[in-house]
Amino acid sequence: MSQPANSPQPDGTAKVSFYEKRKKIYAKGVRGYFDNWRIALVIFTQVLFYVSPWLTWNGRQAILLHLVERKFYIFGMVFWPQDVIYLAALLIVSAYALFLVTAVAGRLFCGYACPQTVYTQIFMWIENKIEGDRNARIKLDKGSGAHKLRVKATKHLIWLLFSLWTGFTLVCYFTPVTELINNVMTNNLGSWEIFWIFFYGGFTYLFAGFMREQVCKYMCPYARFQSVMFDPDTLIITYDPERGEPRGVRKKGADLSKLGDCVDCGQCVQVCPTGIDIRNGLQYECIGCAACIDICDQVMDKVGLPRGLVRYSTESAMAKHLTKKEILAHVVRPRILLYTAILILITGLSAWFLAHRIPLKVDIIRDRSTLAREADDGRIENVFMLQIMNTEERPHRYKVTVDGLPGAEIAGNNEVDAVAAGLTSFNVIVSAPPDAGKTGSNPIHFEIEATDNDDIKVREKASFLQP
Ligand code: SF4
Ligand code: SF4
Repeated sequence: MSQPANSPQPDGTAKVSFYEKRKKIYAKGVRGYFDNWRIALVIFTQVLFYVSPWLTWNGRQAILLHLVERKFYIFGMVFWPQDVIYLAALLIVSAYALFLVTAVAGRLFCGYACPQTVYTQIFMWIENKIEGDRNARIKLDKGSGAHKLRVKATKHLIWLLFSLWTGFTLVCYFTPVTELINNVMTNNLGSWEIFWIFFYGGFTYLFAGFMREQVCKYMCPYARFQSVMFDPDTLIITYDPERGEPRGVRKKGADLSKLGDCVDCGQCVQVCPTGIDIRNGLQYECIGCAACIDICDQVMDKVGLPRGLVRYSTESAMAKHLTKKEILAHVVRPRILLYTAILILITGLSAWFLAHRIPLKVDIIRDRSTLAREADDGRIENVFMLQIMNTEERPHRYKVTVDGLPGAEIAGNNEVDAVAAGLTSFNVIVSAPPDAGKTGSNPIHFEIEATDNDDIKVREKASFLQP
């Protein structure tokens, strides 16, 4: 028979298990000021997620990361693989924004906008509607019979449908939504589309339905390293032990002068989605959801004591008894100024480059089969292929000129009509006198300019071979 974990052994040692069996958490629902903020953010992020793929722009899906075409459409902008620098800038800006928010206000993102929190909230809301509040859920889990089976089956069915809808929505960002619906209707979904709908949907169901706080406690890498961004002036959710202790139930006739303000009702533990007791101090399991603030304020209202026994505060504010005004004054500190400056700089530079982005890219490929040839008139010709990427969603006519070598010119047609948001190949012949430049490679420049807009032009370097 196996012995329980952490049990004493016959030789006097203790058996310690690194794995702890999960105790199911029945978080009690709570309404309040911070809960309203969370609901607002859940609605905002989910409306954004579920509605965005249905928006149209220029007769196409407004936001589409078209992997097959290798183009990202974001409203009026079209990004090509060559624009990967903007993706890098977006990631850096997001990372710095997260650093800044964490340094100022701790786990604000975790508590209000993290997808794990948001989906868990939605799943808990569905659970609450179907199974009832905390006590009803505990009773149901202890019970058995047809009623339990029916209620549980209903909940899981709704969870599964919602998860599949979430997976479907994710794929809508990568495959045009009309095409995807058509594929579903005609039973013609591709294997990757099926995989991602079920993969993302399956993980939504698993993470938000079953694993919940375990994802935050054991899997989230951000939870692990964010403590390095904390300092004594970072806002955290904290219990005021000086005011609350010694805790105790306020029985009639008890000597209240010997009791702190905490009435030891345990409500803050019951509402906690990670099942911890905020009165034990700052713990890594705390996701900063502020449910314990909302419930404790309600308890304080009931017992006629001031709110804020559990509140947003900072380590130094607790130690030095700082006022709200003094806490706010500590927000401006070197680390915050540095994060803000970097964030403004990168955002500003990215916005400037984006605004001045030329919607034209050109790749020049030399014709390898004919390095250099002599024309009937004795001039030397080199053949190039220009791959013109018109990143605007309207067609353009481009004029190609060449310079850098005395007497060099384009032989034959030097204008090309390029398709909208597409790639157009154009062969050009560069002709130069036989005595121009030196034998071998000579640097030249192509200039490609839109005939309807002087601002759209690029210069590209190439080399002209003289035999
Ligand atoms: S909710 Fe407030 S009063 Fe009740 S146990 Fe928690 S800290 Fe104490
Ligand atoms: S301790 Fe409070 S803020 Fe932290 S996770 Fe629990 S309820 Fe949320």
